[in-house]
Amino acid sequence: MTRYAVISDVHANLHALNAVVRDIEGRGIEEIYFSGDIVGYGPKPNECIDIITRRCKILIAGNHDWAVVDYTDTEYFNEIAMLAIEWTREKLTDKHMDDIRAFKLFKSDPARDAMFVHATPKDPDNWDYIFSLTNAAANFQSFKQKFCFVGHSHTPVIIEHSGPGEMSTIWDKTEIRETSRYIVNVGSVGQPRDGDTRASYVLADDTNIEIIRVPYDIQKTQEEMAEAGLPARLIERLSFGH
Ligand code: ZN
Repeated sequence: MTRYAVISDVHANLHALNAVVRDIEGRGIEEIYFSGDIVGYGPKPNECIDIITRRCKILIAGNHDWAVVDYTDTEYFNEIAMLAIEWTREKLTDKHMDDIRAFKLFKSDPARDAMFVHATPKDPDNWDYIFSLTNAAANFQSFKQKFCFVGHSHTPVIIEHSGPGEMSTIWDKTEIRETSRYIVNVGSVGQPRDGDTRASYVLADDTNIEIIRVPYDIQKTQEEMAEAGLPARLIERLSFGH
C-alpha cells in the first residue's frame, strides 16, 4: 500500500502548513488526510482552507472550525481562544465560511481501514481529549477500523491496542502488527504543545506508522499574527511549543 500522510490542527499557520506539505510532497507522497482545526489562533485562515480543501483526500471539522460557524458551543473556550475565533469570523470570506459549514465530524476510508475524527471516536462532538490509556480503552470500542487518526491535544502519540487491556504508548514510530489496532494522535501542524516547536504530522503505510517533525519559519508567522493584532500569548507560545 502506498504511503499516506495525516495532518491536523493547522490553526491558520500558513508557513507551518506550507513546510509540511513541501515535506510530504518531497517524499513523493500524494495522499493527505486532515483531522480537523484548520482555523483558530493563526493569521491566515482563508489561505489554509484553500490548501487543505484542494490537497486533502479526506478532511473533517475540529472544534475551532465549528466554533467559527456556530455549529458548536463555545462556552468552554478560554478568553484568548474566543478572541481568535471572533477575529477569524471577521477575516473569513463567505466562500470560506461555506467551506467550513460543509465539514463533517468524522469520516472513514475503507482503503486505509481508518477513521478520522478530531477529538474522540466515542463522542466526536463532545471535544474530549484522549490523555490516558483509560480514556483510550473506552475509545477503542467506539470504532471498528484498524486505525483511528485524531488531533485536538496538539501532542503526537501512537497508542497501540494489542489485546484486551493491553495498550502501550509510542512516541516516535512503530511497526504495524497484524493483530493490533491503533489510535494515532498526529499532533499539530500550526501550534505544537509538546515542547517541540516544529510542525508535527504522521506518515503511515501497511508496515509502519511514524511521527514526523518539520521546522518552519516561526518568526514569519509571529510577525503576521502581530500585524493582525492577535493576542500576545498566542504569538509567544509558538516559540516554546506549548
Ligand atoms: Zn486544535
